[in-house]
Amino acid sequence: MEREWSFSTKLLHNEWKVDRATGAVSVPIQHASTFHQFDFDSFGKYDYSRSGNPTREALEETIAALEGGVRGFAFASGMAAISTALLLLSKGDHVLVTEDVYGGTYRIVTEVLSRFGIDYTFVDMTDRKAVAENIRPNTKVIYMETPSNPLLKVTDIRAVVELAKAHGCLTFLDNTFMTPALQRPLDLGVDVVLHSATKFLAGHSDVVAGLAVVKDEELGKQLYKWQNAFGAVLGVQDAWLVLRGLKTLHVRLKQSSESAMAIAEYLLRHPKVEEVYYPGLANHPGHDIQRSQAAGFGAVLSFRLADEEAARTFVRHVRLPVFAVSLGAVESILSHPAKMSHAAMPKEERLRRGITDGLLRLSVGLEDVNDLIADVEQALSFVKERPSISAR
Ligand SMILES: *Cc1c(COP(=O)(O)O)cnc(C)c1O
Repeated sequence: MEREWSFSTKLLHNEWKVDRATGAVSVPIQHASTFHQFDFDSFGKYDYSRSGNPTREALEETIAALEGGVRGFAFASGMAAISTALLLLSKGDHVLVTEDVYGGTYRIVTEVLSRFGIDYTFVDMTDRKAVAENIRPNTKVIYMETPSNPLLKVTDIRAVVELAKAHGCLTFLDNTFMTPALQRPLDLGVDVVLHSATKFLAGHSDVVAGLAVVKDEELGKQLYKWQNAFGAVLGVQDAWLVLRGLKTLHVRLKQSSESAMAIAEYLLRHPKVEEVYYPGLANHPGHDIQRSQAAGFGAVLSFRLADEEAARTFVRHVRLPVFAVSLGAVESILSHPAKMSHAAMPKEERLRRGITDGLLRLSVGLEDVNDLIADVEQALSFVKERPSISAR
């Protein structure tokens, strides 16, 4: 019997490891926009690169295999993948969306879909009862993102899939924070997996890309039609960069997740840190669900300092992480959600969700973990103690 390779081996040894024409051990970048048809009547596999391109196809088939799907699609950005997948909705449909969804997805749902007669409701996806209560007869899609940004809330994927199936709705899941190295939503019954490949999949802060994967042929045909119609396809150089990044996905996530765990534990013990959000911590409310549905806890954590002044002081003094939006790269990336990813959200709404002015998000990279902890420690030494905290 043939042995089924493990995930880290599959990242390197797949259908695309050697080019069949030349034996090249790197996928050739095919720039052609159009393809000569050798026969008047029977056309070749490729005709025009928006409809199909061998380099993009290599990435699409690779991500489909890694997610356990039948068909993958590569787009010019994560938002292009998400927007195109949402074209599966029609006028009169309703979509139920997790309330701490990525800001760009929030914008598409509230400002674009609404103009085409598609209704929406935001709900706390970690609250099964609230999900059940908000499903309507015309609900076509339930949209999840887990763990969520920036508070790493964990949705019980199986529970939501069960509700969706009982009501005949499709489920979409943004798997950007986990990647198939840690979480395989299609295996749990999800219909469409979405990615910002800009983050962990490519992993080097040097490409913007998006992916979608389905496990149903019919759904794949529809999504292909919208990919080709909408045309937000990924360019070939960028497809190659994502393929290159994917080869090290497993080792990158393994090391970054281990470091994230160590940093989370360090922060948890630090008197100037008021709260630490990381699903790997036993006190995290989603810890057990995360363990039951994923193979790890990921490389992103958030922590709360007293106020904006404390966050400013920390950012001013920290030396290793870059201070930027985005995440999932070889270098650690620190961000301030209140002023960055969630700046567009009204303040009361932001605070209601726990995204306070003292909250910082850290995407842990590949630096030595002791260096990272030492850096965090020295930066925290400049943060003023809050009297109520020091009195504890
Ligand atoms: C970055 C991100 C997106 C958007 O992807 P782009 O590649 O920036 O368009 C979507 N979802 C999540 C969770 C993200 O982090």
